[in-house]
Amino acid sequence: MQGGCSGYKIMETSISILIIYTGGTIGMVNDPVSGSLVPIDFRHISDQVPELRRFGFSLETVTFDPVIDSSDVSPDTWLKIAATIEENYSRFDGFVVLHGTDTMAYSASALSFMLQGLEKPVIFTGAQLPIGVLRTDGKENLITAIEIAAARENGLPVVPEVCIYFENKLLRGNRTIKYSAEHFNAFVSPNLPPLAEAGLQIRYNRNLIRYPTVRRPLTVSGKFDTAVAVLRLFPGLRRETVHAILGTAGVKGLILETYGTGNASTAAWFLEELRSFISMGGLVLNVTQCQAGSVEMGLYETSAGLMSAGVLSGRDITTEAAVTKMMILLGSGLPSEKVVALLVRPLCGEMS
Ligand code: ASP
Repeated sequence: MQGGCSGYKIMETSISILIIYTGGTIGMVNDPVSGSLVPIDFRHISDQVPELRRFGFSLETVTFDPVIDSSDVSPDTWLKIAATIEENYSRFDGFVVLHGTDTMAYSASALSFMLQGLEKPVIFTGAQLPIGVLRTDGKENLITAIEIAAARENGLPVVPEVCIYFENKLLRGNRTIKYSAEHFNAFVSPNLPPLAEAGLQIRYNRNLIRYPTVRRPLTVSGKFDTAVAVLRLFPGLRRETVHAILGTAGVKGLILETYGTGNASTAAWFLEELRSFISMGGLVLNVTQCQAGSVEMGLYETSAGLMSAGVLSGRDITTEAAVTKMMILLGSGLPSEKVVALLVRPLCGEMS
């Protein structure tokens, strides 16, 4: 990270926002040698958005060194983002994380589980077109994300959650998926309406926003166990493939992407593979391949077998949230019954 917060102080008022620039298309330019888009420093972004100077509050930035394309994000990146927020938590009223769109939903999910006791907004945003391009979506995304991070009512933040703001919508981070590689409207949260929509005004859906019920200091859960795998079912999936994934040395948890309401093949070999993995202490979480809706184990005979094999229901959790939640719970060092209990219930609004 580039040493401390770089001064981009606009005006001294009581509200202050820290922008954490990790990389992504928003700040990219064409590399003259390779012709590919590569991320560059924040000055490039701020030069393109002179409007930042018109905010009536203080803005500072921290830039990751190096800034990255979000396909290179790893749990270390999440730890860096969380540490930056923790170190600066008392000095700022809200945080905006500039991040590539490709893995933004994973990072926002991870941060939602890591930042325990969060009482301030952490708003992820980015762009589909670089900020230097005339038709960029990055300017609006950045400006509105800052406005949301700064929004307060009766002295308290309006959105004290980890969210993604993109193309007029504020979505709960751990409910969000990137669904379009092309449209400006790149993110959706199919199982939860937007927490806010930005038109002429920003309209907050206050009954959906999670507000802390007890006040406690911010703590960061910072251990990830990456011994997880994702298996998406498809007709024709071979036993050898399932066996190889479940037999991979060290794998402790599987996110099983099933059909519809959580259904899978009733083939005896398939259930045997799962049973044997679970009997050795493995965790299997059932999530649906559908973008919207929920796993309902037992509704069809094709999911009853999973249930009796000990597969757990992920209900309407996204794969992104399931992966990060499983990594953090496996890394927590908690006893396995506790990990199972936490896996199947909502911890911070990630499932209904
Ligand atoms: N590859 C880019 C990234 O995720 C895409 C983007 O930012 O939109 O960093």
